[in-house]
Amino acid sequence: MAGYLLARAGVQVVVLEKHADFNRDFRGDTIHPSTLELMCELGLLDEFLNQSHQEVRELHAVVNGESVPIADFTKLPTRCKFIAFMPQWDFLNFLSSHAKRFPAFQLHMETEVIDLLMEGSRVVGVRAKTPKGDLEIRADLVIGADGRHSTVHNRAGFQQREFGVPIDVLWMRMSKKQGDPKQTFGFFQHGKLLVLLDRDDYWQAGFVIPKGQFDEIKERGLTQFQSDIVEFAGFLRDRVAELDDWSKIRLLTVQINRLRDWCREGLLCIGDSAHAMSPAGGVGINLAIQDAVATANLLADKLRNGPVSVEELRKVQARREWPTRLIQGMQVFIHRRVVTGHAAGRRSSLPFVLRLLKWFPALRQLPARFIGMGPRPEHFHSPTAG
Ligand SMILES: Cc1cc2nc3c(=O)[nH]c(=O)nc-3n(C[C@H](O)[C@H](O)[C@H](O)COP(=O)(O)OP(=O)(O)OC[C@H]3O[C@@H](n4cnc5c(N)ncnc54)[C@H](O)[C@@H]3O)c2cc1C
Repeated sequence: MAGYLLARAGVQVVVLEKHADFNRDFRGDTIHPSTLELMCELGLLDEFLNQSHQEVRELHAVVNGESVPIADFTKLPTRCKFIAFMPQWDFLNFLSSHAKRFPAFQLHMETEVIDLLMEGSRVVGVRAKTPKGDLEIRADLVIGADGRHSTVHNRAGFQQREFGVPIDVLWMRMSKKQGDPKQTFGFFQHGKLLVLLDRDDYWQAGFVIPKGQFDEIKERGLTQFQSDIVEFAGFLRDRVAELDDWSKIRLLTVQINRLRDWCREGLLCIGDSAHAMSPAGGVGINLAIQDAVATANLLADKLRNGPVSVEELRKVQARREWPTRLIQGMQVFIHRRVVTGHAAGRRSSLPFVLRLLKWFPALRQLPARFIGMGPRPEHFHSPTAG
């Protein structure tokens, strides 16, 4: 998104992606109302909504067997009053295909950043590995948008604050059948959570477990694991047997962290590279996009004339840090209180916050706003080329 917006403003951009395609399946599928609003501002919304996706207007969870409405997006002050579920690779293919229409945009696939190029204390580019050999690319500004295992922030030596995350995710697929529930569901039970993402012809399942328990789960055996899943979502009974080998179940470790400084001379980190997000609330993609918009709004004009000072880069952190802190605070709260907290252990208990949501429908607009728009939603005011 940052590449798209900067190229749209006429700044020469080279986006480097280490993989040959965008087909990762561990980064979430949610496109939030605030991102859809941005699509509309860019004139891309109609075409975007023509891509295959599901629209979710209300989020429900099943907590210890009890159905709870969590968020109601239908009253948001946005054009699209829903979350669009679309595999992230479709979204990235859509965005990059539009970005390629700008003469200033280049996308290099299979190009992995392995180091930063330095001149004194200033970052002046990157060294990258490609199938044809190593490559050096010099730039007025390097934007580290390389996710939660960021090479860029590691090579820059940035200090990072880790927030303990008490969960991991087991990630697997199961087939979809006619008559399955239409909506995407979250099922909470005794410190565990099963999330099902509808990917048209299959269910992508994320099974959230207390951190470090995967070995214990494996020791109990596959049959036990299959029946654990059925306990959460009975309609999967006739196909859990598809999970017949542990190789079909991947462990994703979840982290929440934040850099103290997001920038130094010639370098800015945004998205998970600056602040790794957990899947809780499904808000990390939206937050990363908001960072990209703020970056373009604050820097595009100046980058058209060459390098920008570190003071200019700090403005991006100053603008985006408090929304990040707030959302990460919410994620830590969800992990501690709802997923693995003391309330999670009691069979019949519904955490107090969820009871309130059940009793007072108007309150569901608060999580809807927090999840659907996020604090301080950004709007485009970066220039266009020409
Ligand atoms: C299991 C799980 C499920 C999640 N589900 C959701 C969800 O449903 N909704 C949601 O909003 N958030 C979700 N999140 C959080 C979300 O995935 C992140 O917050 C979001 O993807 C961050 O976007 P990003 O662009 O900063 O980084 P990423 O999406 O991680 O993208 C980084 C990109 O950089 C590339 N890259 C990495 N290193 C290099 C390198 N050295 N050189 C070149 N390229 C490189 C990667 O291949 C990747 O394409 C989930 C997280 C996890 C762990």
